[in-house]
Amino acid sequence: MEIITAVRGFKDILPTETGKWQYIEKIAREILANFGFREIRVPILEKTELFKRSIGESTDIVEKEMYTFLDRGDEYLTLRPEATASIVRAYLEHVMYAQDPVARLFTIGPMFRRERPQRGRYRQFHQINAELLGLDDPRTDAEVILMLMQFLMRIEISDLHLQINSLGCTKCRPSFRKALSDFLAGKEDRLCKDCQRRIAMNPLRVFDCKTTNCIEVIDHAPQILNFLCPGCMDHFTRVKEALGMFAIAFEVNPKMVRGLDYYAKTTFEVVTEHLGAQNAVAGGGRYDGLVKDLGGPDIPGIGFAIGLERLISISPFMDEKFLMPPQLFIAAIGDKAQKLAFSVCNRLRTMGITTEMDYSGKSLKSQMKRADKLSSHYALILGDREILENKAEFRDMQKGTQETIGLDDLEKTIIKIVKGS
Ligand code: ATP
Ligand code: MG
Repeated sequence: MEIITAVRGFKDILPTETGKWQYIEKIAREILANFGFREIRVPILEKTELFKRSIGESTDIVEKEMYTFLDRGDEYLTLRPEATASIVRAYLEHVMYAQDPVARLFTIGPMFRRERPQRGRYRQFHQINAELLGLDDPRTDAEVILMLMQFLMRIEISDLHLQINSLGCTKCRPSFRKALSDFLAGKEDRLCKDCQRRIAMNPLRVFDCKTTNCIEVIDHAPQILNFLCPGCMDHFTRVKEALGMFAIAFEVNPKMVRGLDYYAKTTFEVVTEHLGAQNAVAGGGRYDGLVKDLGGPDIPGIGFAIGLERLISISPFMDEKFLMPPQLFIAAIGDKAQKLAFSVCNRLRTMGITTEMDYSGKSLKSQMKRADKLSSHYALILGDREILENKAEFRDMQKGTQETIGLDDLEKTIIKIVKGS
C-alpha cells in the first residue's frame, strides 16, 4: 500500500532541524523581551471578514491565496495568512488599550497562503510577528527596526539590506493615487491581468507586482515620496535620523509598497542576496488606520513579520550543533544487567541526566556502535559477571578512556562525573 504524504506546500520540520528552530526562537524571545514585547497567542482560524477588511480585497493574499472554507454551511472561516489582523482583533476584543495605552505584542507561529510552492515559498510557513500599538512617534519606527536588525545580527545572518519607504497617510496618499492613476491611464494593456483588474481599486498594487512588463511600466511612475504631506515628510526624516543614531544602514526604496493595504507612513523590508528570487527575510510597516478600520478607536501601530523558513535556510548554524546527544549510554549484557540498566537509565533521566540504553540485548560491540552513533559522551557497560563482582565499566567516549566503578552509589558516582564534565 502506498503511504499518505503531506499536502503539497506543507512541510515537516524534522527532529534534526527543530534544534535550530528552537535556538533561533530563543534568541528572538530574548531580544523581544529586552524591547518590552510580550507574547500573545492567537488562533490560527479567524472569520474571513477580518482579513478581507484589514489586508484589503485587492491584494494577492485576499484575492487568491487564502485558505477559506464554509464551516458547515454557517460562516466563512480562513486559516490566517498573516498575524497582524488577528493580533489587532484580539487587542480590540480584550480592550487592551484600556489597560495600557501602549501595547508591545509578539507571536510566533504558522501562517497559510495558497501560493505556488517553490524555494522559499510554502503554503504553511512560520513567522515571528511583533506589533507595537498606541504610539506614532517616529522613534518607535526606528526602535522596531533596530530590534529586527539586532535579532538578525545575533543569529549571524549576513549580507542583509534594509530598505525603507513611506507610503504617506490618508491626507497625502489620495493625491499620489490620483497621479499614479493618471500615469497608468492608457497603459493598461501593458499590465498583467491582475494589475489591470486592480488599478481601479488600488493602483499602488502595480508596484508590488513581480511581472516583468508591470515592473517596466511602473519604473517611470510618479513616486510616493514626492507627494508626502509635511507631517509624513517630517515623520520619515525623523525615522531616518533615529536609524542613524544606531548606525543602521538602510536604503530608501520609493517603489516598495508591500503587499497589504493597511500600511501607512513607514514601510520596510529586509532582503538578502542568499535567497534567490524570494529574497525578503522580513517586512513590516506602520498601520495607523488599521485599528480604526477594524472597528476600534483611532490607535496607531507598527509591526513586522519575519519569515522563519527563509531565515533557517540561510542560517550559518549547523543542524548538528543542536542535536543534543545523550550524556550517557548504558550497554548491558545479560538479564541481570539489562534489568539494572533499565532502572539506572530511567532513574538518571529523572535526575536530569540525558540517558539512553540498549533494549536489544545484542552483542557489546553492536551496543557500543549505537552509543557511538548517538554521539554519547559517556558509556556505562554492565555485564552479569561484573554485577556479581559489584562493579561496572565506565567509558569516556570522547577521550577514549575507561575506568572501573563500583555499583554502590552508582547513580551518585555517575552524576558526579557527568555533571563535573
Ligand atoms: P514575498 O516577497 O515573498 O511575496 P510577502 O511580502 O508576501 O513576501 P509578508 O507578507 O511581508 O511577505 O511576510 C513576511 C515574511 O514572511 C516574508 O518576508 C517572507 O520571509 C515570509 N513569507 C511570506 N510568504 C511566504 C511563503 N509563502 N513561504 C515562506 N515564507 C513566506
Ligand atoms: Mg507574497
